[in-house]
Amino acid sequence: MKVLSVSSEVFPLIKTGGLADVSGALPIALQAFEVETKTLLPGYPAVLKVIRDPVVRLELPDLLGEPATVLEVQHEGLDLLILDAPAYYDRPGGPYVDPLGKDYPDNWRRFAALSLAASEIAAGLLPGWRPDLVHTHDWQAALTSVYMRYYPTPELPSVLTIHNIAFQGQFGSEIFPGLRLPAHAFATDSIEYYGTVGFLKGGLQTAHAITTVSPTYADEILTPEFGMGLEGVIASHIDNLHGIVNGIDTDVWNPATDPVVHTHYGATTLKNREENRRSIAEFFHLDNDNAPIFCVISRLTWQKGMDIVANVADEIVAMGGKLVVLGSGEAALEGALLAAAARHPGRIGVSIGYNEPMSHLMQAGCDAIIIPSRFEPCGLTQLYGLRYGCVPIVARTGGLNDTVIDANHAALAAKVATGIQFSPVTETGMLQAIRRAMHFYADRKLWTQLQKQGMKSDVSWEKSAERYAALYSSLVSKGM
Ligand code: ADP
Repeated sequence: MKVLSVSSEVFPLIKTGGLADVSGALPIALQAFEVETKTLLPGYPAVLKVIRDPVVRLELPDLLGEPATVLEVQHEGLDLLILDAPAYYDRPGGPYVDPLGKDYPDNWRRFAALSLAASEIAAGLLPGWRPDLVHTHDWQAALTSVYMRYYPTPELPSVLTIHNIAFQGQFGSEIFPGLRLPAHAFATDSIEYYGTVGFLKGGLQTAHAITTVSPTYADEILTPEFGMGLEGVIASHIDNLHGIVNGIDTDVWNPATDPVVHTHYGATTLKNREENRRSIAEFFHLDNDNAPIFCVISRLTWQKGMDIVANVADEIVAMGGKLVVLGSGEAALEGALLAAAARHPGRIGVSIGYNEPMSHLMQAGCDAIIIPSRFEPCGLTQLYGLRYGCVPIVARTGGLNDTVIDANHAALAAKVATGIQFSPVTETGMLQAIRRAMHFYADRKLWTQLQKQGMKSDVSWEKSAERYAALYSSLVSKGM
């Protein structure tokens, strides 16, 4: 089966979050199920800089008013189609924001262009290759199935994956003419959303199947609390809604071979983590003692519960714990965490910024990772934690609920516990969880048991890739 995957970020070329990890790893995992994927992504400067010897595959002289070229290149096991459109993507800053962190005002056009190019490829414009199915990710690629509905595209099945329904790509109706869709596309069964243009909404209405990145999140987005206004639309497609939990790339994330981890280890050599723990203490200027090191690796936002972390930091120290934070995000939260570090030298360390190697080393050296998200479609850092023996302490929501087994009495007795879950996601809830962790940590045997059980969890892509492959097959065999 041939699949066109469309994503605004793909690891290892460009990443701002979990979406990149998924769109970079799933195509490789799908190879075992005879799914051949080409992945279309924008030609940001960071992408064009690292690829070698691309081949020009398609010229699009008027992609929503700007010229574009589709380049094809193989990169680290991925077959990439790169949309080289300098007017849209050749700028400093990130994929979505300028160097000052502000959304580009023409994001609607930049990602409509990506989607339109995808629908052209779906229609067979790429010489010698036409997909059997199109898989789009998040609002940035969601217009693909909208264009496929209204443009003269042969009927092809499409799957839309929601990685986070909080990001919907909603714009004023004045942009509608610039999308070059027929007037009747501005309708509730398509992209019209309370008088505005909704990219994700349009994708949900036009894709043949919707997936979310965990079963619990699939249930949650049917409720007003988590559906962010789209719960009604999702409910109308409930028969085509699937929750498939993310896996991780177990080659990239392997404590026995990870090149940035100083001392390699496995479940039977957990003692080797000590060296990595010392490196973490050094990097964050922590006292080198036996107190547990709790870590946070995250975007610093309200969604991720980072205000809660800042508010309980003093109490974590008072309980005898240490805390290290790696992340960037909202200025107020960065400031609150830096202030906590300043109040507790030797006990709290904060590093503001994005640091991929350090994120690996922290999983390999810290004792536990705290993930207090108010909502979490899947979450990846708890999966890395499981794989690295860094015990996850997680909010009971979304994918965190599906992937971590709470160390309650029954689970401990059955030796199946892999971490700690807490609810409600409040300061009190989190402090209770930390207290439980401190209690378990004091019992070395019990803690090692938790680590080992976590390391046994199947966090690979295999089972989930099989589910995606089965979904693709059922859509293709139905004719959609
Ligand atoms: P989200 O996509 O909502 O940000 P996920 O848990 O799904 O959350 O994925 C976050 C990804 O980004 C993980 O791979 C995590 O290790 C990584 N990450 C987050 N913040 C940082 C950081 N400051 N430095 C390095 N990696 C980070």
